[in-house]
Amino acid sequence: MKTLSCTENYHGHALSRKRLFIATFGCQMNEYDSQRMAQILQKDYRLTIAPEEADVILINTCSIREKPENKVYSLVGRYRRLKNKRPDLIIGVGGCVAQQEGQRILDRMPYVDLVFGPQAIYRLPKMLRDLSRDKSTRICATPMENDFEIPSPEAPLPNPGTVRTFVTIMQGCDNFCTYCIVPFVRGRETSRPPGAILEEIRQVVSEGVKEVTLLGQNVNSYGKKNVNFPDFAGLLRLADGIDGLRRLRFTTSHPKDLSDALINCFGRLETLCEHLHLPVQSGSSRVLKRMNRHYDRDGYLDKVERLRKACPEISLTTDLIVGFPGESERDFQDTLSLLKIVEYDQIFAFKYSPRPGTRAAEFDDQIEEEEKSRRLAEVLDLQKKIGFKRFKALENTIQEVLIESVDQAGLKGRTRGNHVVHLEGNKNLVGKLIRIRIDRAGNHSLRGSTI
Ligand code: SF4
Repeated sequence: MKTLSCTENYHGHALSRKRLFIATFGCQMNEYDSQRMAQILQKDYRLTIAPEEADVILINTCSIREKPENKVYSLVGRYRRLKNKRPDLIIGVGGCVAQQEGQRILDRMPYVDLVFGPQAIYRLPKMLRDLSRDKSTRICATPMENDFEIPSPEAPLPNPGTVRTFVTIMQGCDNFCTYCIVPFVRGRETSRPPGAILEEIRQVVSEGVKEVTLLGQNVNSYGKKNVNFPDFAGLLRLADGIDGLRRLRFTTSHPKDLSDALINCFGRLETLCEHLHLPVQSGSSRVLKRMNRHYDRDGYLDKVERLRKACPEISLTTDLIVGFPGESERDFQDTLSLLKIVEYDQIFAFKYSPRPGTRAAEFDDQIEEEEKSRRLAEVLDLQKKIGFKRFKALENTIQEVLIESVDQAGLKGRTRGNHVVHLEGNKNLVGKLIRIRIDRAGNHSLRGSTI
């Protein structure tokens, strides 16, 4: 769980009367949504990191895996005690669990005042006003597809000092991977008009942002349903031309929609960083078919080869599921061998966990928990060696690093390849792009020094 903190991102609102606590679970899309909530509400609320002093508690939930969902329920239950002490406290549950469960949350938890889906966050100011006015009101706002609310141009933008930010370019997903609940809770793919996206990038850049990550469940299919929209490669080219933007990234990419035009953007567009998160999920074509991923092992490896040809220094990261229903030992070995071939810089690997409402949850060849744990440990052990080798290869190289933050341990920044780098230096370097030498590789980050 992550907590948005006023000291991190939202200076300057200490005089606001009410206090807002936001707990965030899950993916970058949820982190983005939480930032948006804070921005949209910053006129009336200042963020606090202490739920016990909050006037409003919003829990932004994730239903991708079972664990976060369970955690969410127990967390919401804990806030009940606060509400007993202070009946005026407003408790809201947002995100994917809210979208999926809707009214059931209100029925199950009488102390929850508000349930709102990802597409309803722009209604928060009004909904909170209504709840403050009438204590007996309870609201369930879970609009679905074709109700994608595009931020108005007046929507507040990141505060000064923010170095990197997300800009959402689309919502929803049309893919229906058999293990995933997202299309059911976030609706069908809807792209934002390019003009609104470019305008938002211009605005955040004018606020001092150096790096923008374009965000969507499947950014590679951006604009496919809209006659006058550019494709995703075209959108990247337009964003690349924005004055003052120094770095551009995007996530998430579905391998089946990774076009040659997009591959060729790497190494050619000046702002586009040499990093791609390309979720493979499994190295076995048989499992990929059952996952309904619409690519096979060879097709995926072919795209990796083309990416490395277009941009040899590109760093690749991925998501992996082990223990998908019916995954045999041979399928699992295919995943291990794919890891050895691709040599990712980093992976995010998880044990399969059935999500109610998905097709895979109904498959009758579920894998034993113990076996899933064994496979996960093996995958992580292999990747530890591969990742360290990739990081080690960066020792003694010169890298451009965007310094993001400072704490007692020193400065923290990121290379264009998305490797975290720690170094000593003046705090005035926060927000600057500097060239550094990589001195030492660790398992998850690098140590460098200014040159
Ligand atoms: S592409 Fe698949 S895994 Fe990703 S959001 Fe869509 S359905 Fe879920």
